[in-house]
Amino acid sequence: MNETSNVERSTLNVQTKYYSFGLIGYPLSHSLSPQIHNAALQALGLDGKYNLHPIPPFPEEYTVLEDLLKQVRQGEISGLNVTIPHKQNVIPLLDHLTPAADTIGAVNTIFRDEDQLVGDNTDAPGFFSDLENFIANNSSFTIHHSPSAIILGAGGSARAVAYALLTNGYSVTIAARRIEQAREVRDQGSGISEQISVVSLSNWFPIPDSCSLIPAHCSLIINATPIGMHPQVNASPWPAGVPFPENTAVYDLVYNPRETLLVRQARAAGLPATTGLGMLVEQAALAFERWTGLEAPRDIMLTSVESHRRY
Ligand code: NAP
Repeated sequence: MNETSNVERSTLNVQTKYYSFGLIGYPLSHSLSPQIHNAALQALGLDGKYNLHPIPPFPEEYTVLEDLLKQVRQGEISGLNVTIPHKQNVIPLLDHLTPAADTIGAVNTIFRDEDQLVGDNTDAPGFFSDLENFIANNSSFTIHHSPSAIILGAGGSARAVAYALLTNGYSVTIAARRIEQAREVRDQGSGISEQISVVSLSNWFPIPDSCSLIPAHCSLIINATPIGMHPQVNASPWPAGVPFPENTAVYDLVYNPRETLLVRQARAAGLPATTGLGMLVEQAALAFERWTGLEAPRDIMLTSVESHRRY
């Protein structure tokens, strides 16, 4: 037998691995995750598919949730993403949480590690990695030596962002319309750092005087509310006509539309500003890497989002 036929035979004997990924949440009709992950699989020449599993938030539906996790445990599903409203619901069904998922109290990625079902949160490192790229690409912007950030909103993404910033040396102010929700985020973050405080937005939107609430040396303003998201494209969490603090950058987690009103306002004021599109891709890339052990093709994933997004 010659060399070529040996190679051919060994190739035929290798069973092709099939990657089955999925997303648990409700509703899921607008999710771009299938496009992002299917593009990544295709780019790496891998066989597989990313499926949507819409599960309404009713107790009678939870057997479906349990069954999907069983399939991950048995290796029939390679990995799952989790979104609203199940980011907390899945926790009791898992064996182990990563420190990020444990502290944030929310899971967005599930994978199997030997016989353990692990819950992770890739929103936090996904945000911080994209933030670092954003800062690196804006050489005119310098981060204060003891950087601070104000986070608008105190929901799930605010928790992930607060965790990422606090574990990377930032001090953080959470500004929320329900002060008790902001306090919950503070209490979660207090275990990591004492550099966390809260302010109430209940009278803030859109009262300009409240901008005095913004701490001195504020390096970053981060929108973690849905204000400005399609179809409310003419809304912004930043009151019109109110000056931004100097040497501040704006990071808007909203990525639909391509340029939010908040980002436009900040750019018009000469500040560096970005939407959360890079975070969306990075959190997906990190999940893909947990599931496959392979480096995710980030450029392809970004191109896929760009070509499939509707707004
Ligand atoms: P969430 O858990 O529902 O939290 C939203 C927060 O915003 C809550 O604190 C909410 O307060 C507050 N809020 C909503 N409307 C408000 C208003 N009109 N005025 C003041 N506060 C308001 O949502 P989330 O998961 O954190 O997501 C927030 C946004 O980030 C969404 O637009 C989402 O698409 C985006 N996001 C982007 C990425 C990414 O990868 N780029 C990742 C995650 C999330 P109440 O509880 O009082 O309503």
